[in-house]
Amino acid sequence: MRIREIVNAISEKLPIDIVSGQDNVGLIIGNYDDDCDKMTVAYELNTDVLNEALRAGANLIVTYHTPLFKPAKSFTSSRRYPDPLLEASRSRMNILAVHTALDVVKTGLNFDLARKIGLNNIQFLSPLPDTLVKVVVYVPASHAEEVRLAMSQAGGGRIGDYYDCSFSLEGNGTFLPGKDATPYIGTANKKETVEETRLEMLVEKPLVGNVIRKMLEGHPYEEVAYDIYPLANDSPNFGFGAIGELDGPTPIRDFLESIKRLLEVETLRVSHLPDVKTQRVSVCAGAGVPFYKDAVRKQADVYLTGDVKHHDFREARSSSAVLVDATHSGTEKFATGLIYEILGETFKDKAVIGLSKHQEQNALIV
Ligand SMILES: [Zn+2]
Repeated sequence: MRIREIVNAISEKLPIDIVSGQDNVGLIIGNYDDDCDKMTVAYELNTDVLNEALRAGANLIVTYHTPLFKPAKSFTSSRRYPDPLLEASRSRMNILAVHTALDVVKTGLNFDLARKIGLNNIQFLSPLPDTLVKVVVYVPASHAEEVRLAMSQAGGGRIGDYYDCSFSLEGNGTFLPGKDATPYIGTANKKETVEETRLEMLVEKPLVGNVIRKMLEGHPYEEVAYDIYPLANDSPNFGFGAIGELDGPTPIRDFLESIKRLLEVETLRVSHLPDVKTQRVSVCAGAGVPFYKDAVRKQADVYLTGDVKHHDFREARSSSAVLVDATHSGTEKFATGLIYEILGETFKDKAVIGLSKHQEQNALIV
């Protein structure tokens, strides 16, 4: 399989295109035309992960964290301090990072963490804006159903768990075919009025190209009139963090102990410990402090994330939601396994997918 086919197949499961404006995801280094028979999955790229993949005969590593986040000025290696990205490039290893694309889907990291904590009625904590467009096309009434089906099968018209959503309105379209036109209806240089359907459908941005292509294929006209409107709506399908409820009110200390067991962390840092029971819990794996305000707004009793700073804790003390730091990698504990599962579903043949033994390289505690 070509690297390009792999990237496209993963993009159908994870919205790499949607998040690429905010994060460095997708094929970070590599060649789209390379053949790939074996890939490995790792939390992030380091020299151990690279050497392990090379020994396994893989030429693609799918990582959770992107190996290239800040603008780099140079890539240099020495025997003692090899730069894994430079060495990966020199050994023709392809690196594909999914990061935020795995965070923002319901099948992704935050919903998975919420489920493992035992939450019910899980929703996005902070839905993603600017991910939707409305496609409007004018089609002769006789072909409206065919075009609607083509757009829907290409992924248009999905709102949450509802599929095939569309709206149509009947009206009259007019046109004057030019002298060189070969119109489906009417003749050159003669004004035409046709009963047309205005067909509307919501489409997620990464699917727009595919939906338009299928719409044009199913449309009988030589020149198709259609509009693509950007929408300010929040996405029902993509968002940061997750919020839900435990089965019942739980003493906060019991809840925190259960988190330590689940994430296998020895200690948690918390903003304050009010003598209350917790039921409404919100999470955001990794560095999720920017979404703490959404947890407060949505009346969460607890917000679980990582990378919390002194002043974040201090500000949280006067708020109702207890801010909990279970470490960055602790909250992302399940990322690698989840990518492995998604790739297994995508490519079926699990023999081509290896799971790295080197999961993370945290700072050492001395
Ligand atoms: Zn992270």
